[in-house]
Amino acid sequence: MLRDFELCCSELSEYGLTMTPEMYEKFDIYAEFLVEYNKNVNLTAITDADEIFLKHFIDSILICRYVDIPENASVIDVGTGAGFPSVPLKIFRPDIKITLLDSLNKRIVFLNQLCEKIDIQANTIHGRAEDISKMAEYREKFDFSCARAVANMSLLSELCVPFLKVGGTFISMKGPGEDISLGQNALNVLGCDKMNEINYMLGMDSRRIITAKKISHTPTKYPRNSGQIKKKPL
Ligand code: SAM
Repeated sequence: MLRDFELCCSELSEYGLTMTPEMYEKFDIYAEFLVEYNKNVNLTAITDADEIFLKHFIDSILICRYVDIPENASVIDVGTGAGFPSVPLKIFRPDIKITLLDSLNKRIVFLNQLCEKIDIQANTIHGRAEDISKMAEYREKFDFSCARAVANMSLLSELCVPFLKVGGTFISMKGPGEDISLGQNALNVLGCDKMNEINYMLGMDSRRIITAKKISHTPTKYPRNSGQIKKKPL
């Protein structure tokens, strides 16, 4: 499915990254299973192997280049869809502990099968972030909460920050266009410091990683229910 190992390694090296043959094998199985499953269940608009490698796999693992993720860190991926960014991240950094959360069960069913196929450990949860982060076992329990292409910064902050321990980091992956500064108030209210923006190119596309450190507990009234979050963004 993917181009051969050397060609993929050479593309990765343009982004300052390297991979082992074992990682390549998992990416290859992932790409093939994603395209096959996507014929019956909507998971991605990207089905060309080279594009999957660049726009899903490289994009996801670039987090490691721009954010310092310590060994054995715990990461929750909010609105993970077909596993992005956390599954490629886990292939690339097997030491991290990933939790994959999505509100659509058909995507969780796919992820469970995928994790078995590529032999990686992941905790998968079917549910809405605003409900799951109220549960004691998930609230303020993670070193990182991340999301790609889920919601605008203000909404996303309310979905992601309650999962973080104090001292943890929120990571949001975005394209150009959105005025992310509109999310700073939400971040402050939820217990985070000033956001930091990292800009980079992925092929011909400009991309951004926005991070914010959690410096105090999230007030218990957050997150609100999804209707309120959308109607009255923080
Ligand atoms: N992160 C993946 C990616 O970059 O390819 C998927 C992005 S997809 C556009 C957004 C995903 O977020 C969908 O799978 C959707 O079911 C999920 N989602 C949206 N709102 C959610 C919520 N409140 N809680 C959990 N998952 C949510």
